[in-house]
Amino acid sequence: MIDEKKVSQLVKDVLSEMDLSAIKPPRKQLGVFDTMEEALDAVNKAYTQFRKYNKEQREKIISEIRKLTHAEAETMAKLAVEDTGMGNVYHKILKHHLVADKTLGTEDLDTRAMSGDGGLTLVEMAPYGVIGAITPSTNPSCTVICNSICMLAGGNAVVFNPHPHAKRISAYAVDLVNRAVLAAGGPENVVVTVANPTMDTSNMMVNHPSVKMLVATGGPGVVKMLLSSGKKAIGAGAGNPPVIVDETADIKKAAKDIIDGCTFDNNLPCIAEKEVFALKGIADELIHHMQKNGAYLLNDRQIKQLEDVVLVWKENKKGEKVRVINKDWVGRDAKKILAQIGVKADEDIRCIICETDFSQAFVQTELMMPILPIVKVDNFDDAVEMAVKAEHGNRHTAHLHSKNVDHMTQYAKAIETTIFVKNAPSYAGIGFNAEGWTTFTIAGPTGEGITSPRSFTRLRRCVLSDALYII
Ligand code: NAD
Repeated sequence: MIDEKKVSQLVKDVLSEMDLSAIKPPRKQLGVFDTMEEALDAVNKAYTQFRKYNKEQREKIISEIRKLTHAEAETMAKLAVEDTGMGNVYHKILKHHLVADKTLGTEDLDTRAMSGDGGLTLVEMAPYGVIGAITPSTNPSCTVICNSICMLAGGNAVVFNPHPHAKRISAYAVDLVNRAVLAAGGPENVVVTVANPTMDTSNMMVNHPSVKMLVATGGPGVVKMLLSSGKKAIGAGAGNPPVIVDETADIKKAAKDIIDGCTFDNNLPCIAEKEVFALKGIADELIHHMQKNGAYLLNDRQIKQLEDVVLVWKENKKGEKVRVINKDWVGRDAKKILAQIGVKADEDIRCIICETDFSQAFVQTELMMPILPIVKVDNFDDAVEMAVKAEHGNRHTAHLHSKNVDHMTQYAKAIETTIFVKNAPSYAGIGFNAEGWTTFTIAGPTGEGITSPRSFTRLRRCVLSDALYII
């Protein structure tokens, strides 16, 4: 016989011990809209309010964004890996803390003043208005948050069209920024996105007259598309960073630095080491120390097997068959990639290395996988020539391990990259364990370089004639 009183008491006891917040219906994410029309409408309304915010108010908002990014770094890192299937949770946590700590705010904006007999003239960094930003799958939330801090610091509002394969984590980041803005007393929807980004939503954003500036962080396709839009555009495109190691380098340290940089977030960062040119005299020693730092060395047969896994044949626009990356393996763990060619690697393996010639596909292709081809070279001049060719004119990032200042100068002049790191892992180039601010939008093609709030402003001149020259 069921005792109703006892059952009712039991239910009450269970409910009182449960965390009911866990079964609440999901909250609608702030700033995330079903259609691009709604998103554009909302961000334009928000901009008319935000335009009145002074630097102190903007800085209050930015400080809240930094706080929430620190607090939710782990949640975002886990969600980014779950959503995209790429990368490493621990490294993504570090990337979020880096964004929170080292993205510049309003302190980056300054004014030029000219005064004289004719009066006073000021040149100020003013907002563009509503910015349309396209973000990648490789650093999804970091790019949304870093762009938001910089663009809001410059007084702009932003509409994001994120990578469709990273839509959940990108929406999370947009919601986080909105929560921060509201906590600082700011208006709703200064940063918006769509729940389901597509090429159509991207086209609508790019062509909408209310969007005054465009920013693309991604591969060559999206950069080309934005640069032909007829609007002011910032393009942060692909890289294929070469590393040179010469005889003067601290080889043990160089090996560790290269493997640390190459494996960071499973090689997703566009600045990460992608191929090595090692001088013949030190190449074997370098490979030996790489193996001591978690690198698995492939033999020639395994190189061929791996090519068939991580590359696929595709027909290009001219109807030619070309080899391109198999996106299924981008940002994956080295051990999982090795398992595809029948290698059961030891627990500490984090990188796959191989000795190849210059023309081999791993050297020439931006894989974004913890795979590092090493080419032995006769002399430094040859190394520089090959590195320049392998970088493909991206003007993105290059690395050198050397104590020879002349070599540093020679390589820097020849390679013409936006970032040039010497004697450190690649992530030093975005301020991680090194000096300088950070960004996740490195604008090589359009020349803004390591973007910061000033990159997202327009210069306006303010002239007062025959006055305020007080000397
Ligand atoms: P991706 O180019 O595939 O996608 C980037 C974004 O562009 C996505 O939102 C995608 O949907 C969109 N897109 C792609 N082609 C488009 C087109 N023709 N028209 C309109 N939209 C288009 O990039 P990904 O795979 O997410 O990221 C990896 C690439 O981005 C790599 O090449 C990497 O080097 C580069 N990257 C560069 C930087 C930088 O700061 N320079 C930063 C991160 C990533």
